Amino acid sequence: MKRFINSNWIQLKIGLWYMGIMILLVLSSLYIVFYISENIIHSSVRTYLKDVVIHRLDYLTIKNGEIIIDSNFDTMIQNVEISIYDKDFKFLYGNSPNGFEMDNKKSKDDKIIIVRSHNQKWYVYNKMINLGSYGKVWIRGVMPNIGQSNAIETVIHISFIILPFFLILSAIGGYIITKNAFTPIEKIRRIAEEINEGNDLSQRIDLGKGDDELHTLANTFDVMFDRLQTSFENEVQFTSDVSHELRTPITVILTQSEYGKNHIKSVEEAKNSFKIIEKEGQKMSKLVSQLLTLARMERGKQKFNLENINLSELLEMTVETQICAAEAKNIKFITKIVPEIYAKIDEMMIMRVFTNLISNAISYGKQNGTVIVELFLDENKNKIISRISDDGIGIPKDELDKIWLRFYQVDPSKSGDSSGLGLSMVKKIIELHKGEIFVESELGKGTTFTIIL
Ligand code: ADP
Repeated sequence: MKRFINSNWIQLKIGLWYMGIMILLVLSSLYIVFYISENIIHSSVRTYLKDVVIHRLDYLTIKNGEIIIDSNFDTMIQNVEISIYDKDFKFLYGNSPNGFEMDNKKSKDDKIIIVRSHNQKWYVYNKMINLGSYGKVWIRGVMPNIGQSNAIETVIHISFIILPFFLILSAIGGYIITKNAFTPIEKIRRIAEEINEGNDLSQRIDLGKGDDELHTLANTFDVMFDRLQTSFENEVQFTSDVSHELRTPITVILTQSEYGKNHIKSVEEAKNSFKIIEKEGQKMSKLVSQLLTLARMERGKQKFNLENINLSELLEMTVETQICAAEAKNIKFITKIVPEIYAKIDEMMIMRVFTNLISNAISYGKQNGTVIVELFLDENKNKIISRISDDGIGIPKDELDKIWLRFYQVDPSKSGDSSGLGLSMVKKIIELHKGEIFVESELGKGTTFTIIL
């Protein structure tokens, strides 16, 4: 439950950030637009007002200490109304708009001020001039603040009504976008949690096709779950296989000991029981030591003693050790071993490989059959190839991949005392020598193992 809140919390945070930035963006752009337009309009209005007033000065002259106003002096030019005052703001001439009043003390020479009077804004420009013998007079232009400036105010008012709608819309849009973006993440989290809590490793996220980051992430997780499931199942299988393999010799040892303790009468009989116990003990010991070696190799702990070894001699020697076993089945060896082939290998390990493959060829080879053992260099002389072929029972096509698995036996009834660990060890040793091994086989015709070093 807590984690649900956490994932929604990220959505909420992104949503809030998104809305905050939207509000900021809209407000600041509105402000910039209105500020600029207001200033442009105001400055054009101001210039116009000032021009009109200053132009009126040409119509004033002084004669005998009196102000003479030219007959062409207009007191109303478009929106601007002109009036003239003496230095104490006593009205002399001109027009003042209806509804316009102002405190004369605020008048400053050559300055435009905005005056509020009767709910309306006015631009007022005052200019003081010195008319020689008459003294100083004020000339004032008054212009109502209507037209463009009011239009801007209307736009601002409408914007403030529209803006909240716009924000709500963008918030809904943002919410839908983040929700959709988070759906795959939510699925990934849910499946991972279900696997964790329910131990059901067969579940997959399965986001479907797509090559964006989330699909790649989900696919990577699915591949990881596949590997986890396989490795988990292998572990379970391995434990069951080990227990199974150890159970038979342990049962034999226990039965023989029980029998010896209660029923043995002669030394001969006792010797026989001990022989059986020893044989089963050796089987267990071999199994345990093979398992240990495999585990060490898999963990990279097995020490490798790499030396430049005469591989041809090593293979000849291994064949020799198997001659007895071959003779027991009247199997003939054909060796095609090119002499003096050297390789940097761990002698004991590679000997294990050869022994395993040759003894398998004999075990699964046919009575009176032939085993061919070859060693040669490839055409470019940079690869060593060894082939061990028999004309025995062969391996079914669909089993070919499985023979490398620990404890795997195609037909346990034909494998005698062996445990099915041999080929997994062979593969591991060859891999650790950075080589390759593969198998070709035809059921009933024979099998060939090829090693490339
Ligand atoms: P095992 O100890 O049972 O021989 P391996 O790991 O050496 O175990 O081999 C695994 C299985 O592969 C064997 O049980 C056998 O079924 C099959 N196999 C191995 N080598 C051959 C071969 N030359 N011909 C036919 N089957 C073979």
